[in-house]
Amino acid sequence: MLFAFALLSLVSVFSLGSAYTDLSDDTLKNLPGPGDDFDIKTGSILAPILRPRVSGTKGNRAVRQHFVDFFKSQLPEWRIEMHNSTSTTPVSGGKQVPFVNFIATRDPPGSLQGDVSRLALVAHYDSKYTPKGFIGAIDSAAPCAMIMHVARSIDAALTKKWAAHGGDDFDVEHKGVQILLLDGEEAFKVWTDADSLYGARALAEDWESTFHTAASIYRTPLDSIELFLLLDLLGSARPRVPSYFKTTHWAYKHMARAEDRLRKLGLMKSSPNHAAKMAKRENKKPRREPHFLPEGNKADDAFMGGFVQDDHVPFMARGVDILHIIPTPFPSVWHEIIDDGEHLDMDTVEDWTRLVMAFTAEWMDLEGFLNFNSEERRDTSKSEFEIP
Ligand SMILES: [Zn+2]
Repeated sequence: MLFAFALLSLVSVFSLGSAYTDLSDDTLKNLPGPGDDFDIKTGSILAPILRPRVSGTKGNRAVRQHFVDFFKSQLPEWRIEMHNSTSTTPVSGGKQVPFVNFIATRDPPGSLQGDVSRLALVAHYDSKYTPKGFIGAIDSAAPCAMIMHVARSIDAALTKKWAAHGGDDFDVEHKGVQILLLDGEEAFKVWTDADSLYGARALAEDWESTFHTAASIYRTPLDSIELFLLLDLLGSARPRVPSYFKTTHWAYKHMARAEDRLRKLGLMKSSPNHAAKMAKRENKKPRREPHFLPEGNKADDAFMGGFVQDDHVPFMARGVDILHIIPTPFPSVWHEIIDDGEHLDMDTVEDWTRLVMAFTAEWMDLEGFLNFNSEERRDTSKSEFEIP
């Protein structure tokens, strides 16, 4: 009996599959916040996204250019691609509207594209056609900004990790990160299968029939996606994100555990028990602390099969594993004209960013390579300055 138990726990350790290493408390404490870059008026990352950016319009193109500029100047090691498609919409009067997905990929140096499995960080960058002037701060300007800051924060650690393992570790040499900022998620009129997910549908379809060279480990770019981590409607206070899929509940549990640790370390700024809020409060008794991801302990038989229609659907239909981080219920500003920068809860935005960063760093086994000392930060700003 005892032997059987020991054997079982050994099996469960191996069945986690690829390595996933917890970050130390020290590393969690030092994960860099976005600082001024998330200022809604002047922030270099978030402010340029907070404008109407309906697919096919000037604003949409300008925001895409912002992504290109950011990666070219700050993350030159990432491979940038645009995925183009066109479609008519219910309001285009028969005209073709362009939909352009922005894709940035960082693979281990020297690896062949078809031999890398990737964590995909995904959000949509288009905004809704109505109401006029709609900004879509939670939908999904803030998630795009979160992903950009996460990419920037793990970039140097990826370089160090790959330099440290000189081709001696299969897992290290075959694991990359991919960012998908998708266009045309929103319906122009009423959400239907044809009027929604324009960019995601075209990309999933194209990638299904784009074949890597015959000797590749992964057949197509879709097979190369190890996990499709989709962020949507994030940035309002007190979100509650359930675990939607039994097949990826193990990944949800990893993120829920990271959240739990960040909370216990007092690092979640939106927490009613955060030091900054406690200092202003007379009654120091700890308050109840709702979690963003409260279903870490959900039982296998509690999954009802319900899910939210979003950019993951065309990928899920083709067998890609999905972790969908979207609150249920939706935040009250959803698809209202007040979903703008001023209505973001910035503490919550920062907390999500820190949590997604921790999850990504653990997924990519970056413990020991994340070093956020002041010297490194100075160096980064210097190199930015030198780029013409
Ligand atoms: Zn929307």
